[in-house]
Amino acid sequence: LIQNIKISNFVISSLQKIVGQQNVYTDEENLLEYGHDETESLSFPPNVLVKPENTSQVAQIMKLAFENIIPVTPIGARTGLSGGSLCVSGGIGLSMEKFNNILKIDEDNLQVVVEPGVITQELQDEVAKKGLYYAPDPASKGSCFIGGNIAENSGGPRALKYGVTSDFVLNLEVVLPNGKIINTGANTLKNSTGYNLTQLIVGSEGTLGIVTKATLKLLPLSKYNKLILVSFKSAIDACAAVSSIFKVGVIPSAIEFMDRLAVDFTIKYIDEAKLDLDDEVEALLLIEVDGNNPDILMNDLEKIIKVVENHNSSENILFAEDEAQKENLWFIRRRIGEAVKINSIYKEEDTVVPRFELPSLLSGVKEIGKKYGFQSVCYGHAGDGNLHVNIIKGDLTDDQWNIELPKAIREIFQLTVNLGGTISGEHGIGWVQKEYMDIPFSDTEIELMKSIKKTFDPKNILNPNKIF
Ligand SMILES: Cc1cc2nc3c(=O)[nH]c(=O)nc-3n(C[C@H](O)[C@H](O)[C@H](O)COP(=O)(O)OP(=O)(O)OC[C@H]3O[C@@H](n4cnc5c(N)ncnc54)[C@H](O)[C@@H]3O)c2cc1C
Repeated sequence: LIQNIKISNFVISSLQKIVGQQNVYTDEENLLEYGHDETESLSFPPNVLVKPENTSQVAQIMKLAFENIIPVTPIGARTGLSGGSLCVSGGIGLSMEKFNNILKIDEDNLQVVVEPGVITQELQDEVAKKGLYYAPDPASKGSCFIGGNIAENSGGPRALKYGVTSDFVLNLEVVLPNGKIINTGANTLKNSTGYNLTQLIVGSEGTLGIVTKATLKLLPLSKYNKLILVSFKSAIDACAAVSSIFKVGVIPSAIEFMDRLAVDFTIKYIDEAKLDLDDEVEALLLIEVDGNNPDILMNDLEKIIKVVENHNSSENILFAEDEAQKENLWFIRRRIGEAVKINSIYKEEDTVVPRFELPSLLSGVKEIGKKYGFQSVCYGHAGDGNLHVNIIKGDLTDDQWNIELPKAIREIFQLTVNLGGTISGEHGIGWVQKEYMDIPFSDTEIELMKSIKKTFDPKNILNPNKIF
């Protein structure tokens, strides 16, 4: 994409006045660094990078951009997998990394007020010190920001029991594209007052406004958890077991699916990842239960084990005996994405279906793979029907990759929608999935969304060319 935006000296010096010279970057190294996220190997640098430190500065930057019609792209920790933070139209890259304060942990109301540049894991660790729990935990939680999580409505392994980011956002401070500052709601658990602007901003991928402060809901932290790793000779059996588990009256805190190749890649490419698997194992389920009574948790696990045995699980079920074993199993699960990336060029699809349909989704994906000649690594948050399909370039020619593959992806997405699901469960549409929006949505639905974008951003300057 040709970036033909010209940033005048006037704009640069205005930005320097707003945020200070030390927070404005035009050197190639910084522009390239902030021009990529974790989406494939795409690179779209901004023309100028700014790092504001407070809401007033963000508002002044947006006012300047609005008056001079300059694209602005909010940038979080750049762990995104749909290219949301890529500056595809050049312009101003707006890094939110200096908004990194936890402003208030409100133990009376079980709430926390945070800035959007706080790392998700750091928030979880801080509130845990007070016996509290912030549940949304993307596998990238050690580096991603709360602002990015809000923009993508991120999920994670615990979403099946506790919900996704939107279930925890009560109120937001947001800077609009014209520089005005709004609050979207109230710091209350319920709110029937007018349209729900809070939930409109959550998941809007940085295209409607810039989140500068968030009030989030907290829960009491569970005292205990138990983790087992169950292997299956058939990946379809593993998928079929998932919905059966919920029928015995247990809601686990996580059910993660990993196919054999996902684990093999992780053991091969990530030094510290170690796991012995029998040759015939085709897939695994990592299952966690949590709560405050260890006896009830054991009872729950026994029920779950009966279910997986009925779905032909292998006899050797691995119980994580201590924290180190638990961490080792979670480590393997969290590093799959990185291992896939080291292995080969790949494309990740974030399909989600009602969980009973997981076996049909998996077998359909493998059929489409056979038809187009590609190999895929599948893993994900099976408990909420979310399967990450990683298509490996391997020996495919560039023509197969660039011309044939989009047809295959279209078939996968069409299958997903036919099964009652949709094309992204948690990674967003961003830059890389927008050509497929016609699959889950009609023209009327897309026009409605575009008109919302226009109301918020009449000059189309905030993260343009994303989603649509
Ligand atoms: C190894 C790995 C594992 C992952 N696992 C998961 C997972 O389990 N679940 C999951 O949901 N995702 C996962 N992701 C994807 C990614 O981590 C999430 O989408 C995350 O929320 C992105 O946060 P970020 O701070 O990196 O945002 P970025 O990638 O920097 O930006 C993402 C979007 O947010 C917008 N944005 C950022 N900050 C703001 C703000 N303050 N206001 C408005 N818009 C803003 C950007 O413009 C962009 O559109 C994973 C990624 C990796 C690399």
